[in-house]
Amino acid sequence: MTPPVFRFAPSPNGLLHLGHAYSALLNFDRARETGGRLLLRIEDIDATRCRPEFETAIYEDLAWLGIAWETPVRRQSEHLADYRVALERLSALGLVYPAFESRAEIAKLVAAREAAGPWPRDPDGAPLYPGDAKSLSADERAPLIESGAPYALRLDMAAACRRVAGLTWDERGEGPNDERGIVPARPEAWGDVILARKETPTSYHLSVVVDDALQGVSEIVRGQDLFHATSVHRTLQVLLGLPEPIYRHHGLLRDEAGRKLSKSTSSTGLRELRAARTTPLDIRRLVGLG
Ligand code: GLU
Repeated sequence: MTPPVFRFAPSPNGLLHLGHAYSALLNFDRARETGGRLLLRIEDIDATRCRPEFETAIYEDLAWLGIAWETPVRRQSEHLADYRVALERLSALGLVYPAFESRAEIAKLVAAREAAGPWPRDPDGAPLYPGDAKSLSADERAPLIESGAPYALRLDMAAACRRVAGLTWDERGEGPNDERGIVPARPEAWGDVILARKETPTSYHLSVVVDDALQGVSEIVRGQDLFHATSVHRTLQVLLGLPEPIYRHHGLLRDEAGRKLSKSTSSTGLRELRAARTTPLDIRRLVGLG
């Protein structure tokens, strides 16, 4: 039997905190319990927010926690060609279209829609794409593209849903509302998500799905904040003919005020805790893995 493959996939856009330690330790422990492999993936496609010093800090902090991972580490920014291939496959299926509205224009369109009644929001709370770029003809698109205007490449979700009806995933952890077992996917709740931009041939959703498949990841252990995104990931997996992993979403650690931990609040940062003489064993206890 091939051993299960796990991955921890942080973005180097800040320093790791207790929530990351929890997720990384869960992956590490599960890989050890099951005789599996643990991969580390650096999700650095957002060049404006990712910095090399944060990547270095990730390696240091994980090693300090006692976590071992396989090398070489996959750095997403070095694999744009893989994402482009996947994007072209989706385009060839007629599922991708360019949308030229700026963020400000989208906000205006949403405001206009909302003035007329409620406008749906995705599971993260962002309004669904309100534009009608999908219906532009090839003749209308060509001059816009030639003019050098920026655009986002969006998934035609209605068309995608027609191809993946009845989609589910196997949830071995739990969703925010206690969802577990075979969970129905609801990709339509996300609307026409962005798959790539003119200057970046990928997005979080596309690269995570491509990488998990290319790296043979069989069990995805990650925070519940990504539970609903799994609907998009399953959709892309089916459209691209990729294997289906098992999902194990875990609860999120919260601060005293009940807020999700974030990279910008330092009291739960691993660096600060370490400077205050907290040990890796203390960290395990703090995240409930003692
Ligand atoms: N890079 C994502 C993050 O830092 C995690 C991606 C995933 O686990 O699917 O939130």
